[in-house]
Amino acid sequence: MSGTFVGMPAFPKAAHEAVHDTTLRGNLRHATHTIRGKRAKAVAEVSDWAELREAGKRIKDHTLRHLDRYLVQLEESVTAAGGTVHWAADADEANDIVARLVKMTGESEVVKVKSMATQEIGLNEALEAEGIRAYETDLAELIVQLGKDRPSHILVPAIHRNRGEIRDIFEREMSEWGRPAPEGLTDTPAELAEAARLHLREKFLRAKVGISGANFMVAETGTLVVVESEGNGRMCLTLPETLISVVGIEKTVPTWQDLEVFLQTLPRSSTAERMNPYTSTWTGTTDEDGPQNFHLVLLDNGRTDALADEIGRQALRCIRCSACLNVCPVYERAGGHAYGSVYPGPIGAILSPQLRGVTSEIDASLPYASSLCGACYEVCPVAIDIPEVLVHLRERVVEGGQVTANGNKVVLKPAKGHAAERAAMRAARWAFSHPGALRTGQRLASRTRRLHPRTLPGPGKAWSETRDLPTVPAEPFRDWWQRTRGGKDGAK
Ligand code: SF4
Repeated sequence: MSGTFVGMPAFPKAAHEAVHDTTLRGNLRHATHTIRGKRAKAVAEVSDWAELREAGKRIKDHTLRHLDRYLVQLEESVTAAGGTVHWAADADEANDIVARLVKMTGESEVVKVKSMATQEIGLNEALEAEGIRAYETDLAELIVQLGKDRPSHILVPAIHRNRGEIRDIFEREMSEWGRPAPEGLTDTPAELAEAARLHLREKFLRAKVGISGANFMVAETGTLVVVESEGNGRMCLTLPETLISVVGIEKTVPTWQDLEVFLQTLPRSSTAERMNPYTSTWTGTTDEDGPQNFHLVLLDNGRTDALADEIGRQALRCIRCSACLNVCPVYERAGGHAYGSVYPGPIGAILSPQLRGVTSEIDASLPYASSLCGACYEVCPVAIDIPEVLVHLRERVVEGGQVTANGNKVVLKPAKGHAAERAAMRAARWAFSHPGALRTGQRLASRTRRLHPRTLPGPGKAWSETRDLPTVPAEPFRDWWQRTRGGKDGAK
């Protein structure tokens, strides 16, 4: 079973520890720089990238605006094609549904396609508690699971591991889970991949139940789509007798034609490929071919609450390409575990506090896990303005205010530990609305500038120790303007 994020410290503490791990930083730097360079090349090949990005944004916004209608259409289409649709309001409900469906088959083992939604709800752990063992089949997920680790990247959950570490994990753990690692295994990629292939093949051939997520769900036909690079997903989607897909409701698109856009932007943004090596689609069930029972669990788990937020809802456009992680200077140094969520990096910093709320210390810290440099916005293939949402969430943390939680309007209290910030903002608001006081304050600041400390005392100490405070000029701008009459007269 892979580890969970429960009990993780808030981002500042977790990141502080992570930045001192030189192996982690080296692994991350190498991986993110390689993929970011490849992505830039793959995107530059497409002459209409800007138009594709805009089209993706519009399709997602339109779908989210009419999500209620498209979800009903999706349910009708899936049911007509022989599938069964289940609605899950939260993680517990989704886990209960899946455990019940697996038990109905009489099986106690399942194979899994890589899926963020099932990680989000802690499905493996919930199934384990019910006596059901879930086997991850994506190579990186397998490494995380065997290493009793936590994922640290959306696309490459074991990005924090190097080849030597992976070889050690395979040698140590594979025999506990099934076929052991081959004798004398080295850390060459081909040998590691072959060890995983042999280990997993046993699972594929034995499994009667497969569990997946989906990258997209097409409302008009009830078709689910999974894109991947390894082919493990396709094995899970075709060999078992029962297939259970757990998918966030925001993965809906209205038509097949809409897929045309995302099947171009997703592979180039995520793995820098022109198209995904494997694109699997399935619609309900088909006689004598593929799974004979298909269940779709539609997961809310905070998504309709996020949808109610006019600024924050754009996070639901995310297609989980992970491009924003690979360019983020904060992610590159802090690593994915520091975010305390299966969604790390810039998208995690805006998605997790919306799905889980900002009342816990860790979620209140996430909107601050950014330098607001804007690189994430530049690369996002659906143009999510992540810096805008980060600032919006920071305001929510500091000021509190009305939000939607579990479908109800509630008023949040300001988070603890931001009293000094709130007082500073209140003082600034007052000063800017009283020009006379502002002028006097500016003059006073100019005249006493030689006495200003370079670091602030008390709670501001840590803040000012990591920043260069600006030097106050000898003369306030207003005085200079008055003296020179705007440069028209006497200014030399
Ligand atoms: S926010 Fe944008 S760049 Fe980041 S994972 Fe989602 S779609 Fe990709």
